[in-house]
Amino acid sequence: MSPTDDTKPFLPFTRPDIDEETIAGVADVLRSGWITSGPQVKAFEATLSQLFGGRPVRAFNSGTCTMEIALRIAGVGEGDEVITTPLSWIATSNVVLETGASPVFMDIDPVTRNIDLEKIEAAITPRTKAIIPVDLAGLPVDRDRLHAIAQKHNLRVVEDAAQAAGSKWRGNLIGTKAASRDFASFSFHPNKNITSIEGGCLVLNDEREAALAEQYRLQGVVRTGFDGMDAEVLGGKFNLTDVAARVGLGQLRRLDEFNAKRRALAQHYFKLLDAPAARALNLGLPPADFENSNWHMFQVVLPEGPGCLTRAQVMEKMRAANIGTGVHYPPIHLFTLYRNLGWKPGDFPNAERIGRTILTLPLFPAMTADDVGRVVATLGEILQKK
Ligand SMILES: *Cc1c(COP(=O)(O)O)cnc(C)c1O
Repeated sequence: MSPTDDTKPFLPFTRPDIDEETIAGVADVLRSGWITSGPQVKAFEATLSQLFGGRPVRAFNSGTCTMEIALRIAGVGEGDEVITTPLSWIATSNVVLETGASPVFMDIDPVTRNIDLEKIEAAITPRTKAIIPVDLAGLPVDRDRLHAIAQKHNLRVVEDAAQAAGSKWRGNLIGTKAASRDFASFSFHPNKNITSIEGGCLVLNDEREAALAEQYRLQGVVRTGFDGMDAEVLGGKFNLTDVAARVGLGQLRRLDEFNAKRRALAQHYFKLLDAPAARALNLGLPPADFENSNWHMFQVVLPEGPGCLTRAQVMEKMRAANIGTGVHYPPIHLFTLYRNLGWKPGDFPNAERIGRTILTLPLFPAMTADDVGRVVATLGEILQKK
């Protein structure tokens, strides 16, 4: 097959799978007379709470505001520092800036592509209030080491588990354990393993935190009796709609099924990419962690140097062959907003090297093994031809 073969249908790098039962359920909500936050949100939160071992859970209209609210509950604000990774979606550190605190980036481990826990302690100062670890592509950060560091230095942890729905650490679902009073934040954006169109949820530690989360979610308002209303904190407008929550409920029922399909497809990628011909392509592969990862993405790191195609050239040729790819992510500290705050090229060599050439290949539950074969064959031809 030629790389410019466009006779095959377009294969996106991801695609949500919404079943007919969910679509019918959404129609019921639309006809019910109550379409914004109501009984579906309550049911979604209750089901999520069951999933996360009974911990309190509140739903929001994005994974971004979910993290911002966690930071506010943790009391993070002006003058505080929050340690995080430069290799993530920009939301991870934007929420720190939103609170008035300063993000402190630490370089990644080039193998896991997650924050290098060896380096975290060197970044802790008297102003450090929290750590935001990111489970990139669903591969969890080592929770034992992370929590040991957080406990030793009395820091809060806001787990950016946006990509880690269904990922595990030592057999426990990410979000179920609160070893150091941590928060776990999930996103239900359509690219994530389960979706509510837009949305997110926060796993909290007690009812006091949950009540505060509700206040930050809706203008700080607290209601009592039939007509009592007060506001003590500055909240925003972050509530999830019942329509979205109904989509989320339909997706939640299929989380295990979706992730099992992703796992099988990832295994197939490894089988094909670990063959001798494919090894000659010099691609950096993700860790083959079939115990813990939910295989949110399958990302390779392209070779770099004289005679190598740039990532943009590879993406263009893949697109010409009707295959979508993605970039997750350019390092955050090199965006203009962050350069203007003082970061510069060379600050985090691992994140910069990987951010420059990391490429997300198609992976979603409705894909087939043949699709994986098509991706690997096309990529192989493109990289061999140069
Ligand atoms: C998707 C994502 C977010 C933000 O979630 P939204 O629902 O898009 O606001 C934050 N962090 C990471 C790592 C993500 O992948």
